[in-house]
Amino acid sequence: MRIITEPEIYIVGRQSIDQEAVSRFLADHETEWETDAERGSELIVELAGRICYLSFGSKQFRKTNASYIGNLIGQGHGSVLEHAVWDLLITGVSRSFTHELVRHRAGTGISQLSQRYVDESTADFVEPGIIAGDPELHATWLAAIERAHESYTTLVETLAAKVQAEHPDLGRTARMKMAREAARSVLPNATETKLMFSANARALRWIITLRGGEGAEPEIRRFAVKLARIMRDEAPTLFGDIEIVTLPDGSEGARVGQYKV
Ligand SMILES: Cc1cc2nc3c(=O)[nH]c(=O)nc-3n(C[C@H](O)[C@H](O)[C@H](O)COP(=O)(O)OP(=O)(O)OC[C@H]3O[C@@H](n4cnc5c(N)ncnc54)[C@H](O)[C@@H]3O)c2cc1C
Repeated sequence: MRIITEPEIYIVGRQSIDQEAVSRFLADHETEWETDAERGSELIVELAGRICYLSFGSKQFRKTNASYIGNLIGQGHGSVLEHAVWDLLITGVSRSFTHELVRHRAGTGISQLSQRYVDESTADFVEPGIIAGDPELHATWLAAIERAHESYTTLVETLAAKVQAEHPDLGRTARMKMAREAARSVLPNATETKLMFSANARALRWIITLRGGEGAEPEIRRFAVKLARIMRDEAPTLFGDIEIVTLPDGSEGARVGQYKV
């Protein structure tokens, strides 16, 4: 059993552009367009914005991608930001964290580890920083985790035997699912989980805004700050207005320049 205090974010998918299709579109419409966008996400947003007014042609070359997107964000044209999508694999987070993250419904796609199918007898646990930093609190927390974990393991074994006796026709997968789905009720919120979280730029900005703020719970705020740093590097023109700030309690938060686009 590992005790985890830091979330991990792996960006496993990001926006890419089919340049050939873009060139074919421009040729079919007897126009031209150049952009200094260096990343697919930034290019797709500019392209989507320009489609709205068919603003292609040589005189458009003067505007940089940064100023084009800055203008979109400044004017609150957030829907154009929905075309840029990322796929994040998130690990080292607790079930209470994911309960909060999955409340973000708009512009997201979610696939999370199933506690009905996956054996949690080797689960890891996420410890809140305020507890981890105090030896007495840590000992109380660890004892509770160990007790819950032990109960889970005992319940799975006993339930699996019970289901086998009562439903001898069931295969192992179905039998273990019945045992685990009941036994998991004793697992704590701290149980580590993993999920694939896909989201567009507009949704990610909103998640960072709400979850990076002072009122957010510390685990999800830590995640939001990490995400903000990653996204600023991923696409500076889409996330460059996000600042990492020090909150009154000394921890880090994220503040978005343009509140809601
Ligand atoms: C500090 C903090 C404390 C919280 N405490 C609680 C709590 O005690 N209890 C609780 O239940 N939740 C709580 N939440 C969760 C909160 O209520 C939201 O569910 C969550 O933040 C998701 O944000 P969102 O509603 O903006 O949804 P998102 O899915 O992120 O949607 C983004 C935006 O899309 C629009 N939108 C999305 N869905 C709809 C819709 N169906 N109809 C119209 N417009 C829509 C809205 O403009 C919305 O803001 C808390 C959140 C924070 C940040």
